[in-house]
Amino acid sequence: MGGNAVVRKTEARMMQRYEAAMVLGAVGDALGYFHGRWEFERSGKKINEELNAMGGLEKLKVSGQKWIVSDDTVMHIATGKALVQHGLGGNFDELYKKIATQYKACMMDMKDRAPGQTCIQWCEYIDPNKPEGWRIPFNPRGGGCGAAMRAMCIGLRYPNPDEKEALIKVSIEAGRMTHHHPTGYLGSLASAMFMSYAIQRKPVREWGAALMKVVEIAREYIINEGDYIDDNLEHWFYFTSRWNEYLHMRAIADEKSEPVFPENYETDVTKRDQFYSEISYGGWGGSSGHDAPLIAYDAVLACHGDWTTLCEWAMFHGGDSDSTGIIAGCLFGALYGFDGVPDGNHSDVEKRAELVEIGVQLSYLAIGETSVFRWIHDMFFLLPSKLFSFLRWIYDIFCLFSSKLLNLIKFCVGKVVGGTRLIFGGLRRIFGGLS
Ligand SMILES: [Mg+2]
Repeated sequence: MGGNAVVRKTEARMMQRYEAAMVLGAVGDALGYFHGRWEFERSGKKINEELNAMGGLEKLKVSGQKWIVSDDTVMHIATGKALVQHGLGGNFDELYKKIATQYKACMMDMKDRAPGQTCIQWCEYIDPNKPEGWRIPFNPRGGGCGAAMRAMCIGLRYPNPDEKEALIKVSIEAGRMTHHHPTGYLGSLASAMFMSYAIQRKPVREWGAALMKVVEIAREYIINEGDYIDDNLEHWFYFTSRWNEYLHMRAIADEKSEPVFPENYETDVTKRDQFYSEISYGGWGGSSGHDAPLIAYDAVLACHGDWTTLCEWAMFHGGDSDSTGIIAGCLFGALYGFDGVPDGNHSDVEKRAELVEIGVQLSYLAIGETSVFRWIHDMFFLLPSKLFSFLRWIYDIFCLFSSKLLNLIKFCVGKVVGGTRLIFGGLRRIFGGLS
């Protein structure tokens, strides 16, 4: 195979990983959410019983209102759209303004999606039209998982080791637009950082310990930024202490050892539920900024590329399963693409076309592409899809006005026929009178 062919094949594979990251995140969210039924179910055993009664994961067709995506995917799309709109620009204030604008706008699409109160409250507060209007005050109760669940695409945009500085600042500022508390926005940093490690193909066992070093750099960033420094530093160590506790428990704090799991842990959902609850802030595993990425990471660490195992650990448990689900699904897609994922699980998930498009555009921004490859992609994928959307739009307009249009045509035809009759009648009278 020639050099160019290898490059194109690698690019195609990378683009598919970007698409899969965005799409499988939404699948993880929809599975964990199950229209609110499983997100708020505290027993993983009960969830698994219900899943088995439906025929198991392999039989699930994740589509339609039954498997609607939750607030997590809507906000993840909002982050992705802002990154794509911003393009290659380096003005971060402009980027934050775009992110804030998208966060406010996406709140209009929250029907049946159970958005968190912290996100609702602060999205209403931020004002992208004011200078630095995206900043909010420090919030002692802002440690929830709302910032972590929507930040993975920041890692897709800045996947390279030399972009770490940009990743740190964007994930923190995007996170603290609604969650101005270290536990909240460090969750955003963890989700974004893990995604960049997935794209880099850094061994999964190294991610957790590497994150602890990045958190130290993040601390310096917070101090240099000067926004509520004392409050932030006072609450800083909860995130790192829980993570260090976990890394030692799995024996991966040295960044190189293979993880160790308790006996029978992989087959016992109740044991996993118990651990998730213990590592959580208030007993509901995955609902905070520290444990949503932690549970997702634990699942990626254990699954070794097996989609079913990933879902058992990160989507079908008794905690905040849509948030752990979206993070785990994203990371899986970035590592393995759609490999081993049943077609019915992802082929018709809600908002799929939009997610794919964001993934493709982020891959262009992040890794570049050969012009030939982009041309081929745009010609055979983007152009037909845009053409289809345009024709669909014309059809919808036609359907909307078709009855009115028909009446108008009838009216016009009636007038023309009536007018013609009048003229002929007149002519007949004139010429009849003459003869
Ligand atoms: Mg949700």
